[in-house]
Amino acid sequence: MQVEILGTEDGQLRVMARGAEPTLMNAIRRTIMSEVAVPAIDKVYVAENTGVLYDEIIAHRLGLVPLKGGENLKLPEECECGGKGCPNCEAVLSLDVEATSDKHVVLSGKLKAEGTVFPANSQIPIVELNTGQRLALEAHARLGRGKDHAKWHPASVAVVKYEPVVEIDMEKCDLCALCVEECPKRILEVRNKALVVNEITKCSLCKVCESICPRGAVKVSYNTSNSMLTVETAGSLSNDELITAACDIIIKKANELKKLIGELAEAQ
Ligand SMILES: [Zn+2]
Repeated sequence: MQVEILGTEDGQLRVMARGAEPTLMNAIRRTIMSEVAVPAIDKVYVAENTGVLYDEIIAHRLGLVPLKGGENLKLPEECECGGKGCPNCEAVLSLDVEATSDKHVVLSGKLKAEGTVFPANSQIPIVELNTGQRLALEAHARLGRGKDHAKWHPASVAVVKYEPVVEIDMEKCDLCALCVEECPKRILEVRNKALVVNEITKCSLCKVCESICPRGAVKVSYNTSNSMLTVETAGSLSNDELITAACDIIIKKANELKKLIGELAEAQ
């Protein structure tokens, strides 16, 4: 298997694996989505809320704010407290804002870290307050996994696709450029009296070019022995940290399986 880092664009990291079963890349994708643990707000204690939004809506919004840090935290189910919540498995954030003008938007940056966990982005709106309205609360963040709740999904994008193949028959092509205009990814171009494909990996395999061509000069297919993983973090970890964390989890699980099979073979 050959692995090539295709680069980062618009916050998305793209990795191509050549000569590997797509299931391998899909295992990394699935592990990112469901197994990589990141912190998120799980409990909110509201001291005062005189704004127009219910406590529950605010708690829900706070839960979806991506958080960074928490490397020292244990997963609640692995903590000595048995998951009840203690300083080893929870980090506290506090928020206290009283609006002095109307339409005051309380942003995630107002969440003050009292532990090791803090908002990954300070510009996420939580609630809009008018003059004199106050929101004061304490939030407890804990580590969790995407398979438990969407707020612990560490990636907003994690997809695998086959390597696209676009074949152009220049004997049939009359350079009408209909496909160039219709391609949603803008990867086709007429250059030096020929139809060429730029950045083939951006092709989404939508086949619009193939269906719009009146002369059947364009054919879109894919190579099943090469697959491409695209990852865009939600903010808690970087894209490369997500991929390495997923690989570590897969390796750990494979080692556990190997050990169990070894024990079984010894017992027989
Ligand atoms: Zn604990």
